[in-house]
Amino acid sequence: MEHPPNDRSDATENRISDLNPAQQAVLDDLGAPASERPEFPDDLRHHLRAAIETAVEPFLDALPTGDDLFVSKHRLGRVHGCEARFLAEEAEDFAWNVPIARGTITHKAVELAINWRREIEPPVLIDEALARYEQDTGDFGRWLQGCSEVERAELRSDSLDAFTKFVECFPPLKPGWRPVTESRLRAELCNGRLILAGKSDLTLGAADGLRAGKVIIDFKTGGFAPVHLDDLRFYALVETLRMGVPPRLVASYYLDQARLVPETVTEDLLRATLARLVDGVRILMELTHGGRPPGTMPSPACRWCTLIDDCGDGRAHLAGDE
Ligand code: SF4
Repeated sequence: MEHPPNDRSDATENRISDLNPAQQAVLDDLGAPASERPEFPDDLRHHLRAAIETAVEPFLDALPTGDDLFVSKHRLGRVHGCEARFLAEEAEDFAWNVPIARGTITHKAVELAINWRREIEPPVLIDEALARYEQDTGDFGRWLQGCSEVERAELRSDSLDAFTKFVECFPPLKPGWRPVTESRLRAELCNGRLILAGKSDLTLGAADGLRAGKVIIDFKTGGFAPVHLDDLRFYALVETLRMGVPPRLVASYYLDQARLVPETVTEDLLRATLARLVDGVRILMELTHGGRPPGTMPSPACRWCTLIDDCGDGRAHLAGDE
């Protein structure tokens, strides 16, 4: 089996052949020979699980019988930001819109591209992805069937932009790299009362015994934000709890800039992520089951907050900015 994300010899071969500089840079950053891939202790996941469960059990006591606490990267990230905004957003019903749908369509096009036997033409693959979901009977399919012509046109245009950048900037994915799009991750702790879950945009490679080999990648439009690192560290922790071996690398790929921001996964990184998770569980429980009033954390994001008209802290912050 080929392992290009883990083997620089293939990167050398590709440099000679057909990769453009942006694609080559990704391959160079993702590649690592076997000798550089770390091995982790076989009891790592048991230690991590025990540490999380011991730390969060007291907070989960407030959960009603039969209830669980669901933690995703988005929920964890938002609860570590402005608590008032977090609660306001939690109260809103989820609704599909063009920016959210763009990720789903783009990822579907990437998935199709992995096994596409003809030349990759982005408009063709985006139309195929749209057609697949338009036949779907789920929530997204129903939204797609009912959205306006303008929304559909914007969705097609935005998805095509993102997918075209992916094709231009990312090396073509070989089946031997074991690429998986929208890979779901889940770990249940404390007898199912704490659920950690997520869905990574793309994974490449796999562990070999206790030797790390998987790379977890999230695609981003727009610029870097520190929370992107936290999101991927959370995935690394869930993957370790799941598989027993951490991913070798996590990375955000910024499509507009053709820039990869990789981070090597270490035990220290996992333990720091564990501490952030435990603190997030504490805050979540205090806000959702403990009756604690939310605090505010003004930031430039106040500009887009639905509470801004009634939030003195947010208004003062924005006034100070101007
Ligand atoms: S306006 Fe700012 S500080 Fe106020 S609730 Fe919204 S995000 Fe928080």
